[in-house]
Amino acid sequence: MQAVVYHAPGDIRVEDVPSPTCGPAELLVQVDACAVCGTDLKSFRHGNPRIKAPLPMGHEFTGLVVEVGTNAVGGFAVGDRVVMATSISCGDCGYCRRGWPNLCVNLAPMGFSFPGGMAEQVVIPELALRNGHVIRTPADMPAEHAALAEPVSCAVNSLEQCQLAPGDTVLVLGGGPMGLINACVARSLGAGKIILSEINDDRLARAEQLGCDVLINPQRDDLAKRVAAETDGLGADVAIVAAPAAAPQEQAISLVRKRGTVCLFASLPSGKSMLQVDSRPIHYGELRVVGTSDSAPRHVEKAVELLATSAVPAAQLATHSLPLASIHEAFTLMESGEALRVVLKP
Ligand SMILES: [Zn+2]
Ligand SMILES: [Zn+2]
Repeated sequence: MQAVVYHAPGDIRVEDVPSPTCGPAELLVQVDACAVCGTDLKSFRHGNPRIKAPLPMGHEFTGLVVEVGTNAVGGFAVGDRVVMATSISCGDCGYCRRGWPNLCVNLAPMGFSFPGGMAEQVVIPELALRNGHVIRTPADMPAEHAALAEPVSCAVNSLEQCQLAPGDTVLVLGGGPMGLINACVARSLGAGKIILSEINDDRLARAEQLGCDVLINPQRDDLAKRVAAETDGLGADVAIVAAPAAAPQEQAISLVRKRGTVCLFASLPSGKSMLQVDSRPIHYGELRVVGTSDSAPRHVEKAVELLATSAVPAAQLATHSLPLASIHEAFTLMESGEALRVVLKP
């Protein structure tokens, strides 16, 4: 079968690999869509020591079950459309036992530890089934939309960490794909005004199309002043930092109201993750500064619901659809900013 195989930094090949076989406690899935994540692009450009190379990449996949192992748990049947919480938890560590599988100390993600979904077929491991990582979608859900369940689920987790309340003013810093997905999920979960800050005007235009209410280019406008003006001088209820840079993380502290929440969604590169923050607003304003990473199965379930009901506009988020062999074209579209999410179709 054809697969996109990660070999080394800068070396990702479209090649023929043996088709996988379904073990007695596993599922075999015929992949019909796999979205390309920013993480995949990062792995291509900079490498990723966590990938057990050579390995088929891709974690934002969906497909139809074509074989069910005789001992597979979960009640899946041939023909079911499935998606996954793709970082598979062990079910056994202190975090799994607390019900926080995305923080598992033994996380084994698809496309890193297990062969991924940029392939004609993928095997869903026993551990994923046992720990509830496989989620059925409505039968009529388009594959391109289902493939967005994973990135949308990460934003569902983010908004959960933010304790978003209906009507809240949400400030999103950074209008890349995940900033925009956070904005869409915030909207779908009842946010009031959504303010998006981004230095790239093309991204601002896209944010406007996606329904963001206030668009600010902080290189032209004073972000703090604009946010104050939009919030009766109080600051946003929630600020989500989706730009992978220290400056917006530091600034966000001063852009939320008292008892507001700052959520660090984007990670900073290791070695470049130190911040200088004024702790006084955190102390006197009783702020919450939270992180968010990956997602748990329940977030994927919610993501499927939001996508299936069009509460999150999947058709606007999946901007490009290309054959599997066009992975390098996908990377180019992502780097130019033209694509929000490219969905590869095996
Ligand atoms: Zn992803
Ligand atoms: Zn665990």
